[in-house]
Amino acid sequence: MKESVVIAGGGVAALEVALALRDLAGAEAEVTICSPRPTFVYRPYAVGVPYGVARVATYDLERLAAAAGARYRADSIASVDRANRLAVTHDGETLPYGDLVVCPGTKLLWPVPGAITFWGIAEERDVGKVMAEIRGGGTRRVAFTMPTVESWALPLYELALLTRAELERSGDDAELTVVTPEDAPLQIFGRGVAEEMAELLAGRRIEVRSGTHPVRFEEGVLETVPAGPLPFDKVVSLPKLEGRRIRGVPHDVEGFVRIGRHCEVLECDCLYAAGDVTSFPVKQGGLATQQADVVAEAIAARLGAPIEPAEFDPVLRGVLWTGGDSRYLQGWLAGGHGETSTMTAAPPWGADRGKIVGRYLTDFLAGVAA
Ligand SMILES: Cc1cc2nc3c(=O)[nH]c(=O)nc-3n(C[C@H](O)[C@H](O)[C@H](O)COP(=O)(O)OP(=O)(O)OC[C@H]3O[C@@H](n4cnc5c(N)ncnc54)[C@H](O)[C@@H]3O)c2cc1C
Repeated sequence: MKESVVIAGGGVAALEVALALRDLAGAEAEVTICSPRPTFVYRPYAVGVPYGVARVATYDLERLAAAAGARYRADSIASVDRANRLAVTHDGETLPYGDLVVCPGTKLLWPVPGAITFWGIAEERDVGKVMAEIRGGGTRRVAFTMPTVESWALPLYELALLTRAELERSGDDAELTVVTPEDAPLQIFGRGVAEEMAELLAGRRIEVRSGTHPVRFEEGVLETVPAGPLPFDKVVSLPKLEGRRIRGVPHDVEGFVRIGRHCEVLECDCLYAAGDVTSFPVKQGGLATQQADVVAEAIAARLGAPIEPAEFDPVLRGVLWTGGDSRYLQGWLAGGHGETSTMTAAPPWGADRGKIVGRYLTDFLAGVAA
């Protein structure tokens, strides 16, 4: 009999789990993607929207699921009955599962009162308005910030770099500052990338105030800790993330799910988690796909596939839009690899096929788009 694998989510991690299971477990697994939103949204391109250089691609999720060998069910998972291996939908229906993979992503919270929030969705009118105000001469000092280091910082730097590039093109000027709780720009990649980023930003006249947490923006003053008040005309912030909770799935106070080396939910049978909802501190699409691959390998091996399931060994790969040529960033996150981070003019992982680099998803989406 086939194993029923239910995936709670319809984003990056969910699709990668389905694709990897199709490859590794084939006919042994019957996969259902259960997600309330009927579309798959490719959010990384949102940074280009306010500057008119990109648009956010959306795909029909039912069609993607079918192409990945899975069924799609338009509903959210509201709770899990672990004792009886049942996922309960928002509409009260029960889905029996052999394995359940939880990947509902995060809720986006308003981070800095008074600041404009960059939500990373298709409509980014408020950030577009800031550009118009700079060109109109009413805005001279702009800060880009984020509330915690536990998110994905790359869009912060892209917004600053794209703003500078746009101003250079239009012949306007403004003081641009990144206010970040990080110790150095994009430190999460490693020392090499942080040093090159600092150089790149200095070359574009973007000041960096590192080790600085934004608190609120009021009457032209950004309150920060520990630096105190900083004067700006406008402040743009990335959102704060909180895990999306599903009743019956253990989570920490911020809604994140704690996982083991094979991305199994700790102390739960036949329950896995992947992507932004996990307590792994970096929330990034490439890492979501790596966790999804680890989950699929663990399930496929149990179903008899001749593989040794790998442990999660995260490597960060990022494509940085600078307003000119892109830069490609890479660094291993876990111990044992030493300082490996690089920033290069060509992707060390092969062709540039999008901003989310995953074993299956990148080529799959490129194929669908083509
Ligand atoms: C502006 C921006 C730029 C980014 N740039 C990059 C980048 O350059 N490279 C990169 O790798 N990553 C990037 N990311 C991060 C990347 O988008 C996320 O890390 C990734 O989408 C996380 O995947 P996920 O599957 O965990 O969650 P998501 O992709 O958010 O998917 C969650 C899914 O779960 C569904 N869902 C919610 N609740 C339930 C429920 N109860 N039951 C069932 N389904 C549910 C949702 O509808 C959604 O389909 C960027 C993010 C933003 C916002």
